[in-house]
Amino acid sequence: MHQDKRKVVVIGAGSVGTAYIYALLQGGLAGEIVLLDIDTKRVEGEVMDLSHGLPFIPPVKIRAGDYNDCSDASLIVVTAGAKQKQGQSRLELIRSNVEIVGLICEKIKKSGSEAVFVMVTNPVDILTFLALQRLGWPKERVIGSGTVLDSSRFKYMLSMHCGIDARNVHAYILGEHGDSEVAAWSMTHIAGIPIKDYCAICGACDNLKTYEQITVEVRNSAYHIIDYKGSTYYGIGLSLVRISEAILRNENSVLTVSTLLEGEYGLSDICLSVPCIVGSGGVSSIITAKLDPAEQRALESSADVLREGLKSLS
Ligand code: NAD
Repeated sequence: MHQDKRKVVVIGAGSVGTAYIYALLQGGLAGEIVLLDIDTKRVEGEVMDLSHGLPFIPPVKIRAGDYNDCSDASLIVVTAGAKQKQGQSRLELIRSNVEIVGLICEKIKKSGSEAVFVMVTNPVDILTFLALQRLGWPKERVIGSGTVLDSSRFKYMLSMHCGIDARNVHAYILGEHGDSEVAAWSMTHIAGIPIKDYCAICGACDNLKTYEQITVEVRNSAYHIIDYKGSTYYGIGLSLVRISEAILRNENSVLTVSTLLEGEYGLSDICLSVPCIVGSGGVSSIITAKLDPAEQRALESSADVLREGLKSLS
């Protein structure tokens, strides 16, 4: 871990890559940010634009770079590739993005990097699994942004419904970052109280109906945003900053990143999101919670969906 430099390489200068950098710059978390894209003119333009705000923020270097920059990076974030069109699922991006991500991983591998690698490009779980194979790095260091964004949407929607600060809501979305994701209501707490007990005290709504509505709303969020404005990038930008904080500050934070499962939750040989402890080396361990039986079955189905996606490539 190159703690002193806190060098972050971002591959993909599109909406997600630049929203992430814009948010990352402001907290003073990174010492150096390097941007890469096949569209080198775009990279130059984005770097110029972002650099012009540097006098207002904590010191950081930002510049265009190449794959040699990965060699001494602390963190590599991949946001390159095709994005969802209206009505398209994340899994439907698989063909377009597998090749792009494969080539990127080959180049990163050649650099001899010891960074933590974070996949963001969709379908993020499948691409994290393929990146792990291509890079050949320890599984701890190859993770996907997974359902960190979905868990944030879940907390936000719960907080709005209950009229409580989102920071007092603990809630996780597990499984695929996509249509088969699982809202883990059995792990949801408000002010330290399990949600079902909290609802019994509060009594303000028909909680079962509300659970269903919130679950559907979280799952369909990206479709709504894409319908209204073409793509999503601010929420994922901030989610990536949260993951970066955990890594660059060695926080050991619990985040639902996508990671390779090796028997946890009864699942193996697949990357998907479960609560993980994230620090400077990536995922140091997976938290295995006892899920409600219906949630456990839904998580297994989510893994099956991802396995089918992987199979479709062979
Ligand atoms: P975008 O079209 O704005 O940007 C994509 C960028 O990738 C472009 O600048 C393009 O030139 C670059 N690119 C393509 N091939 C490349 C290569 N071989 N090497 C380097 N750069 C290359 O798209 P976006 O809105 O930034 O979305 C990027 C990805 O992030 C999409 O797959 C999208 O679905 C995904 N995404 C993920 C999440 C998540 O939670 N994981 C959330 C939002 C978007």
